[in-house]
Amino acid sequence: KSKKYAKAATKEIKTAGVLGAGIMGGGIAYQSASKGVPAVMKDIKQDALDLGMKEAGKILKKGVERGKVSNDKMIKVLSSITPTLLNDAVKDVDIVVEAVVENPKVKGSVLAEIEGVIGDDAILTSNTSTISITELAKNLKRPQKFCGMHFFNPVHKMPLVEIIRGEKTSDETVNAVVAYALKLGKTPIVVNDCPGFLVNRVLFPYLAGFAGMVDEGVDFVGIDKVMEKQFGWPMGPAYLSDVVGIDTADHCTVVMEDGFPTRMKRDTSSAIAKLAAAERYGQKNGKGFYVYG
Ligand code: NAD
Repeated sequence: KSKKYAKAATKEIKTAGVLGAGIMGGGIAYQSASKGVPAVMKDIKQDALDLGMKEAGKILKKGVERGKVSNDKMIKVLSSITPTLLNDAVKDVDIVVEAVVENPKVKGSVLAEIEGVIGDDAILTSNTSTISITELAKNLKRPQKFCGMHFFNPVHKMPLVEIIRGEKTSDETVNAVVAYALKLGKTPIVVNDCPGFLVNRVLFPYLAGFAGMVDEGVDFVGIDKVMEKQFGWPMGPAYLSDVVGIDTADHCTVVMEDGFPTRMKRDTSSAIAKLAAAERYGQKNGKGFYVYG
């Protein structure tokens, strides 16, 4: 079905801008560049840009070691990612993927600001995990050119991309973004808008169930072992939370409660909320449920 959307696309994405060079922004910029769509990667912190470039370099180096990537390709991909601290550097791109912190206010102002920088024809998307696209579009002048483009972590490995259609998103925008996702070698699915979309409406109740068990005194290492070894999932919920980022997971629970006040009630004393308050953000800062050396 996604091929049908892509076939109808009238706008080809040749250059991309990515806002945020964190776990997701860095991954999206890498994926775009590696599939021949140069990416300008913007952050507010030089450290984040440096880390984003380093992570891209690591993936490529692994590919070179395994004989899957040539040295020339490695150099080409790295030189097609342009790290920058300036909004102006994305002014000529065909698409922007916003991947800054999961906070509706921050995203709202970042999106509105960048909409004033990019061309009238450019498409704006958000990699938000949970925030309603229709809500985010309320700050925008061209909501028809805005939709969700939700990648999964790690971006270079996970095939799925949710393309979220907001109330005012045009068909033309959806078609072009689906075509771009296919160009990146991904499997796009077009979904309707609601907090959490499809995957996170399933995932967050699961994580809430897990956090509830930890609060009751069940050992999280044991839960991970059961889910991984006996149930057969690639990782258990504690390790998954560390990979996602405890801060991001915690922000998502706030948005999910706003969207589904009774079904997704946030427990501020849950293990995830407590770890976030203690600034144990998971792999990104070396400590979460587990400690990383
Ligand atoms: P992260 O904390 O790793 O990175 C966020 C980055 O945004 C940081 O480098 C920060 O400096 C930067 N930033 C903050 N304000 C900015 C601004 N005004 N302009 C430019 N950069 C700014 O977070 P992440 O895990 O990459 O998550 C980013 C987004 O992707 C969130 O919306 C999150 O919900 C979503 N997401 C995360 C995952 C995941 O597994 N981590 C998966 C899918 C989607």
